[in-house]
Amino acid sequence: MTRGIHMKGRKHSKETRRKMSAAKKGKIPKNLKRLHKTQIGKNNPRWKGSNVGYQALHDWIRKLYGTPKFCENCGTTTAKKYEWACVGIYNRRRKNWKRICTRCHMISDGRLKKHLREDHVYGEILQDRILEK
Ligand SMILES: [Zn+2]
Repeated sequence: MTRGIHMKGRKHSKETRRKMSAAKKGKIPKNLKRLHKTQIGKNNPRWKGSNVGYQALHDWIRKLYGTPKFCENCGTTTAKKYEWACVGIYNRRRKNWKRICTRCHMISDGRLKKHLREDHVYGEILQDRILEK
């Protein structure tokens, strides 16, 4: 048998091998890869569920605190869009929320880092500012 991982200079006893294969059978289902794929992202019911709550709270914050056209982070008033960002505990307390422009929001989310590497430092400054509050 030359299947599986080769252990250099070691030989497992029959008993150990039996135990190992039993453990494998118990822990890793044959369809693990397929199962894993279907659990990722939008197909994941848990992800979907939490996202519904996320959106509802955002709507609630918007209704309560309005939609100011001012970025609390960089101070811009000329951005095309402003969004409420959660900067603390995810609840309805105003102190846990910041009205920021899309750009700052993307940086704080780490979304922009993927696109703009030179923004890395700026993203860190933003994070520090958020953590200070
Ligand atoms: Zn901003």
